[in-house]
Amino acid sequence: MTKTILVTGASRGIGRATALLAGERGWSVGVNYVAQAAAAAEAVSQIEGAGGRAVALQGDVSVDSEVVALFDAAERALGPLDGVVVNAGITAPSLPLMDMDAERLRRTFMVNAIGAYLCAREAARRLAPSRGGRGGSIVLVSSIAARLGSPFEFVDYAGAKASVDTLTIGLSKELGPEGVRVNAVRPGLIETDIHASGGDPDRAMRLGATTPFGRPGRPDEVAQAILWLLDDASSYTSGAILDVAGGR
Ligand code: NAP
Repeated sequence: MTKTILVTGASRGIGRATALLAGERGWSVGVNYVAQAAAAAEAVSQIEGAGGRAVALQGDVSVDSEVVALFDAAERALGPLDGVVVNAGITAPSLPLMDMDAERLRRTFMVNAIGAYLCAREAARRLAPSRGGRGGSIVLVSSIAARLGSPFEFVDYAGAKASVDTLTIGLSKELGPEGVRVNAVRPGLIETDIHASGGDPDRAMRLGATTPFGRPGRPDEVAQAILWLLDDASSYTSGAILDVAGGR
């Protein structure tokens, strides 16, 4: 039986690498995006080109009705879900908290925290056998920022990601009896567009050089950890938060 997965924010970066690896390993993949339809379409054709099955699905994870519609569309296109990767996230330009306005704080928490909670809730509803699901695995993409606090850069983002860690622990306990595992990865500095979107394109290379490995990580290195947590290979692992941060 082919397993099906929905990856939020899969048009680029870590989500895209996860979608490609899942496709290679035989999962049917829902590739969610919010704005970059062309990037999502490209990810889908890459999966299909490698012999896999995928569909691009638009939806803003910070809007409740869009999250419900996204999961409905994924199940219509692919069938019942077996896995969900709650990955979509954003940063904003580096600032001390003293200089952050309320709108920035709201947006950061809406996408990274509320968005993660909405997607995890919907994943729980679809996977839990008590709601008609067939069990499965949820992986949330947090950040090493939750541990470091990200002073003078984005303490807002770090706090939103800390809530993702706590959600992972609580939801794993709610869903354990249902046979649904819930885990998180905490990436360190990974080379993706997120740094340019936050106004600092060289951030991963510059700061990556100061880490124990002396380099930033690649999206596919995070994808490997996510796929392990999704797969039955990690069948006794739940509530775990795995740092993928080059020893940082
Ligand atoms: P990225 O390259 O900037 O890609 C972000 C992805 O999220 C894109 O597919 C984007 O879609 C999607 N997205 C953004 N806002 C969304 C929304 N409201 N609804 C649905 N999708 C949305 O980012 P990334 O670096 O791969 O980050 C992926 C995750 O890893 C995030 O949660 C991030 O916080 C976390 N992380 C990243 C790093 C790092 O150094 N890169 C480190 C730690 C944690 P569009 O293409 O349509 O815009």
